[in-house]
Amino acid sequence: MIASDLQTAVSRLRDLIEDAQVIVPFTGAGISTECGIPDFRSPGGLWTKNRPIPFDEFRANRDMRDESWRRRFAMERSFAAARPGRGHRAMASLYRAGKIPALVTQNIDNLHQASGFAPQDVVELHGNTTYALCLDCNAPYDLRWVKEKFENNNQRAPDCACGGFIKTATVSFGQAMPAAAMRRAEELAKTCDLFLAVGSSLVVWPAAGFPLMAKRNGATLVIINREPTEFDELADLVVRNDIGDALAPFIGA
Ligand SMILES: [Zn+2]
Repeated sequence: MIASDLQTAVSRLRDLIEDAQVIVPFTGAGISTECGIPDFRSPGGLWTKNRPIPFDEFRANRDMRDESWRRRFAMERSFAAARPGRGHRAMASLYRAGKIPALVTQNIDNLHQASGFAPQDVVELHGNTTYALCLDCNAPYDLRWVKEKFENNNQRAPDCACGGFIKTATVSFGQAMPAAAMRRAEELAKTCDLFLAVGSSLVVWPAAGFPLMAKRNGATLVIINREPTEFDELADLVVRNDIGDALAPFIGA
């Protein structure tokens, strides 16, 4: 059922949230656009202008690593200034109320943690761009440190003391999905009784698998997204209103 208007959407959503014991949200870029984080994949988005650098090229080519860091620092203003939006705050309220055990996200912007989720309760399928890791020894690096080295060395990316390459903690194209995060997301999808897909087009693997998994295990499926998705027919409720508008009533719930 597609909610005919915002009021209907909110009232249906309120009933489903009240009835649910275990809610698992699955969030995508749409929840963060009101925070000034661009949707990279959208038409006109960054990825249509700048071809993403695949993981094997990052590893193989120093110029690609430098270019990748140049792009990342160019976006720092957006990422550093971003604060949780209404969708994030609503999810955090339900988390604090004990309705949400953990949340699965495709986003790399750290805004769920910033809204009050404990880091271990945010399952990040595509990693996190607000810090960096050595690809070999996994040592964590602060972006400010990387930037300082980068600028002081003629826009050359620094390497780890172990000789490994330093990369944002994100999952690049061609890079293996994080196995532990995938397992946890699957487990969450299978054990919830309300699966809330928020701001994801649900097209990109593995995103597409989770709503189905939840539904097959008996969960109620809600899709909140501006654009239609492939799973709308399967969903118990589809909300195509603005995400912030639809979720704002649940802040402080
Ligand atoms: Zn290292």
